[in-house]
Amino acid sequence: MKESWDLIIVGAGAAGLMAAAEASRLKLKVLVLEGQKDPGLKLLMCGGGRCNATNVKVTDKDYSAGCAHTLRHVLKHFSSEDAVRFFEQWGAPLALQEDGCYFSADGNARTVLKALLSAAAAGGARLRTEARVTAITAQDGGFNVVVNEDCETTRRVLITTGGRSYPATGSDGSGYGFAECFGHRIIAPRPALTPLLAGAETFTSLSGIVVPAGLSLWAAGKKEHSVKGPLLFTHHGFSGPVALEMSRAWVDARARQGAVRVDFFPDERREGAEFLFQDEAQKSLKTCLAARLPERLAVALLHAAGVDGLKRPGKSEVSRSDRRALERVLRACPLPVKDTMGYAKAEITAGGVDLKELKGAALESRLQAGLYFAGEVLDVDGRIGGFNLHWAWASAAAAARAAAAAKA
Ligand SMILES: Cc1cc2nc3c(=O)[nH]c(=O)nc-3n(C[C@H](O)[C@H](O)[C@H](O)COP(=O)(O)OP(=O)(O)OC[C@H]3O[C@@H](n4cnc5c(N)ncnc54)[C@H](O)[C@@H]3O)c2cc1C
Repeated sequence: MKESWDLIIVGAGAAGLMAAAEASRLKLKVLVLEGQKDPGLKLLMCGGGRCNATNVKVTDKDYSAGCAHTLRHVLKHFSSEDAVRFFEQWGAPLALQEDGCYFSADGNARTVLKALLSAAAAGGARLRTEARVTAITAQDGGFNVVVNEDCETTRRVLITTGGRSYPATGSDGSGYGFAECFGHRIIAPRPALTPLLAGAETFTSLSGIVVPAGLSLWAAGKKEHSVKGPLLFTHHGFSGPVALEMSRAWVDARARQGAVRVDFFPDERREGAEFLFQDEAQKSLKTCLAARLPERLAVALLHAAGVDGLKRPGKSEVSRSDRRALERVLRACPLPVKDTMGYAKAEITAGGVDLKELKGAALESRLQAGLYFAGEVLDVDGRIGGFNLHWAWASAAAAARAAAAAKA
């Protein structure tokens, strides 16, 4: 007769593998079902292949989530020290960078993946790949899990199928469908941490330039969101941490005609742009600007302002309207965003299974006993800096521990 499992985990990404390690350590008989040929494909892409696995300081402020209480509860029980200790123990030490991010010490995300696989295998968790789950139904106090026209039975199920971003890695949103079958509400999924597409060619010739910038999102005359950090110009538009961080707010404000503005001097306390020319009155505007910004960008901004770069501030050649136009493009330049690069290039999916329908830190469904969720499938998304993987580890550990406690 076919064996039955204590816990079936659907999806062998960051959350599924951490849950397999923790649940098997706690003596559950665990089967992990992964649709792809290999587990952890997205994990291998993390941090440009170096894997930013956590951050020295993780708080609920680093996330957007549908229920702050549940978020805080889960984070409280799995700190960044816990993550660092876990990966150290399983042969993947993490190294702390100056900015507070922890990366795989050998600069290789594969080492982090191997650590997870070793930990899961050490506890006896079984992993089946090329095993795509197509249906989950409740039966006789347990579950039937349909996979490749075969059926597995289990007492509990943990859904760690991820979101919709980078669907080629296997995360195509199937977890939302499973949750809906049990009556769960899905908070509208949308791409987040994704590059912005330019709607005009003003800046696309600047591809490859990176500058410090302050981005702000405005709707109905109000500033709704602001971020500061490196901005990268690309062939398609805008990327780099600030553009990625802005994408979610832009998507949310799109229907309200939300507009992004950029300050090219984000650390300058003085207002306006006069400070740039004060002591350089005899030099041309272009020379003054090129001393502070990459020359190609300086030229493009002068062009966007409609001001002749050869004019010199000290020779009364720069009119009041020139000064106003310069101030606008240098300190609050409208960024011509027409769209985002969507799920194809999104590091994360915002939205997902509504946290309010789960039991606090257990992450167990209030609608179906024995059904758990963890990772990106939930309505939680973090900012750049290791926070999304930290959520995967913390939520997976929480759900696995709750499933083990329920068995006891
Ligand atoms: C390019 C890129 C870089 C990133 N870099 C970082 C970083 O450095 N730091 C950070 O914190 N975050 C980073 N992230 C985000 C991070 O990768 C995710 O937050 C994290 O992987 C989510 O883990 P998860 O286990 O919930 O989902 P996933 O990692 O997406 O795993 C879900 C798994 O479930 C499987 N699956 C789906 N449906 C089924 C099904 N029906 N049956 C069987 N299996 C199924 C999928 O094949 C997949 O393997 C990055 C993301 C991307 C795309």
